[in-house]
Amino acid sequence: MHLTVNINRLKSDIETLAQIGRKEDHGIYRMAFTDGDFKAREWFKNKIIEAGLEVHEDGAGNVSARLNSQNNNPCVMMGSHLDTVPAAGHLDGALGVLVALECLRRIKEEKLELKYPLEAISFSDEEGRFGGMFGSQALSGMITPESILKAEDLNGVKLVDAMRDAGMNAMDALYAKRKPESIHAFLELHIEQGPVLDSSAISAGYVDAIAGLFKWDVSLIGKANHAGTTPMHMRNDAFMGLSEFASQIRRILDENGSARSVATIGRVEISPGAANVIPGSVNFSLEARDTEVQVLGDIANAFRKALSAIARRSGLMFEFKILSEISPVKTDSGIVKLIEETAKSLNIPALQMASGAVHDTQNLAGITRSGMIFVPSKDGRSHSIAEWTDIDDIEKGANIALNTLLKIAGGDPF
Ligand SMILES: [Zn+2]
Repeated sequence: MHLTVNINRLKSDIETLAQIGRKEDHGIYRMAFTDGDFKAREWFKNKIIEAGLEVHEDGAGNVSARLNSQNNNPCVMMGSHLDTVPAAGHLDGALGVLVALECLRRIKEEKLELKYPLEAISFSDEEGRFGGMFGSQALSGMITPESILKAEDLNGVKLVDAMRDAGMNAMDALYAKRKPESIHAFLELHIEQGPVLDSSAISAGYVDAIAGLFKWDVSLIGKANHAGTTPMHMRNDAFMGLSEFASQIRRILDENGSARSVATIGRVEISPGAANVIPGSVNFSLEARDTEVQVLGDIANAFRKALSAIARRSGLMFEFKILSEISPVKTDSGIVKLIEETAKSLNIPALQMASGAVHDTQNLAGITRSGMIFVPSKDGRSHSIAEWTDIDDIEKGANIALNTLLKIAGGDPF
């Protein structure tokens, strides 16, 4: 038996929520623990009550709807986040929360007796205003009193102050931790935020891994000198070193990476930075992502070797600092298979793929069997008011999510 979501109700929820935190530039501003964010939480809580579900809130600001919580079995959890980046679109995070709520509403309407109780959750601060994915990290037991006290946003506002202003005690987030045995499985539906599904005209994807990354701060140091009087062969031009390295990145990924590897130099500073001075040093960011730890290690080694060789040849010094390293995460292979089969049984073509962006699923995967469903992002656009997914694709993705949830909560083995 297949169940379908009430697409008109879901569409109306999407449109209503899209007005919360929207400003004159049409962007949505629901950064964690700001007015817009709290308004969205209030709205969500009212929708939960309206649906006859139970509202649950924890100390980290996670809000969820519960169905059959008197059932003592571990819950099957599904959700995403309601907070946004500044000037955001209307689907990133929001869609996953609304689809989760819709799934619970449909299951309640059908009065289905399932083996496991259900929870539709909105995680707080997924977009990392305070540096991490606060809500899902708290729930997964990844925060400490120290990390709470240290957390601040880019303007120097402390998390403890932002939460206190809202009448919350940030230390209560430590009580948001759930025991791994209290969650049977976790599912998240999210927009892809990339161009793969849209460009291949496929309505849904199921994620087998979320990419990890390393981010370096790299410097090449040469000698600043007169751009007119220094012959070409007597220069230690730091920018020339960088440009040589940049031109090797594609080859390095071809030889050492996988089809999923990406690398980016996103920020470059040349100094002294004048038209008539040979660049004495360049400082740049270097980020690479892949879904395999081993591959990330191979790419890092190859980058190091290439940079050292270029520095040696060009009379430069090479220094680098590791700014961050995040390990790739595999979703649960059983859930991946279940999503694939569900899509097939609904006659919806779906693509197995990786997630290049981080999501709450990354943290949940540390404590329970987790899976992710993607729907297409028009032209791959996200974190922008250009964010868009056709309602037909939303419906298909939501139906895959609903029927996968039914199988898991019904006790199907996976
Ligand atoms: Zn998101």
